[in-house]
Amino acid sequence: MKKSLLFAAAISALAPTASPAQNRAPQVERLRDAALNGDNHAWDIVEGLTTEVGPRLAGTEAEARAREWSVRKLRSLGFSNVRIEEFDMPVWVRGEEKGQILAPFLQPLALTALGNSGATPASGIEAEVVAFSSMAELQAAPAERIRGKIVFVTHRMQKTQDGSSYGYFGAVRRLGPSVASQKGAAAIVIRSIGTDSHRMPHTGVQQWQAGVTPIPAAALSNPDADNLERIFERGRPVRMRLLLTPRQIGTRKSGNVIAEVPGRDPKAGIVLVGGHLDSWDLGTGAIDDGAGVAITAAAAKRVMDAGRPRRTIRVVWFGAEEVGILGGNDYARRHGTELHAAAAESDFGADRIWRVDFGLPEQAKAVTDRVEAALSPLGIARGTAVARGGPDLGPLVAAGAPAITLQQDGTDYFDLHHTPDDTLDKIDREDLRQNVAAYTAFLSIVANAPENWGHNAPQR
Ligand code: ZN
Ligand code: ZN
Repeated sequence: MKKSLLFAAAISALAPTASPAQNRAPQVERLRDAALNGDNHAWDIVEGLTTEVGPRLAGTEAEARAREWSVRKLRSLGFSNVRIEEFDMPVWVRGEEKGQILAPFLQPLALTALGNSGATPASGIEAEVVAFSSMAELQAAPAERIRGKIVFVTHRMQKTQDGSSYGYFGAVRRLGPSVASQKGAAAIVIRSIGTDSHRMPHTGVQQWQAGVTPIPAAALSNPDADNLERIFERGRPVRMRLLLTPRQIGTRKSGNVIAEVPGRDPKAGIVLVGGHLDSWDLGTGAIDDGAGVAITAAAAKRVMDAGRPRRTIRVVWFGAEEVGILGGNDYARRHGTELHAAAAESDFGADRIWRVDFGLPEQAKAVTDRVEAALSPLGIARGTAVARGGPDLGPLVAAGAPAITLQQDGTDYFDLHHTPDDTLDKIDREDLRQNVAAYTAFLSIVANAPENWGHNAPQR
């Protein structure tokens, strides 16, 4: 009791001096705690999307169905100006995928094609395998070692709470196929960019660098990569058979789904929250990124129902993030010059938020201090990084829009990421509510803040 009184005294000593915003602080707390204790909107959205739509690969008919579903859902929740902003994109679809080690020991492989993978002939290919322990080793290897062979890069991703290891280990997926092709490889298989030990390969996008010929490119599950490493330790030539028949099917439509809570003061700017609607095709896109669209829309719904905010809240469910941030680019192209007071994207699963980073200009310092104070009781600490706001917001933030990042704990995110195992049962309802509570507090404060501020200087 004594401890909590002291804690309350410490909080009020830190609180900003009296302002209209402070008068609304009890409302922020009420909204936050109502979300924490009983939000069902987010669960309802992610349960509905994963059950009634399921996988929604960018540019496919499934993603179009997801957009139609989303428009109906957002309208039924009471949002205004619900619409789709379409754009064209090249579309790649998965085909058959099979692999086997032929020699020295016959073994089946659990593998999956990487995005934009080339295809083998319908009869498959067979070749000797050459193994590399890292991207650097592949880059340093002479082409004579690689020409005509199947390249295997085994580089086990490590867990980090902030997910930063994805940048380092992900290079094998993003660049490995191009480097292998440039050196004349027949195909490439990589150890999955994932931290689990299940027989689930992790897909993900890779782009062929300019002038590079597409080759078959796949990821092995971690246990399959372990097994292949042990086979290599026997010191005998290794041969593999691969059958991958993905296709580029030409230009199709994708789109961003947008919904708004119109603000009272059109000059005060927009607060953008969202996630991406598309998913990989293997799972049902629950943690990536059904959770993100659900969390952010649920928070916007809660703030909307509490009364018309000063600023317009814009909910954006981006299309075609997985294959190259196409929705984020289209949004910035259309809306980059509109005043955004803040932008935040949830695209890192549904585990608890533990850190908040800000990228707002100095004039908004009192506002970010209030957000920090409202998030503290949820176990969220202020970080020191400059917020980038999420993958789809990259182009908008580069144009100067201020970002906030509410960072989920990503320790286990890459156990499931881009696998068939990304399904609804992996979402914990209490953790999901903590996410909604954090977004609700942030949105309520920033959308109603009486202070004004502008964009940051554009980058580049
Ligand atoms: Zn994502
Ligand atoms: Zn993803």
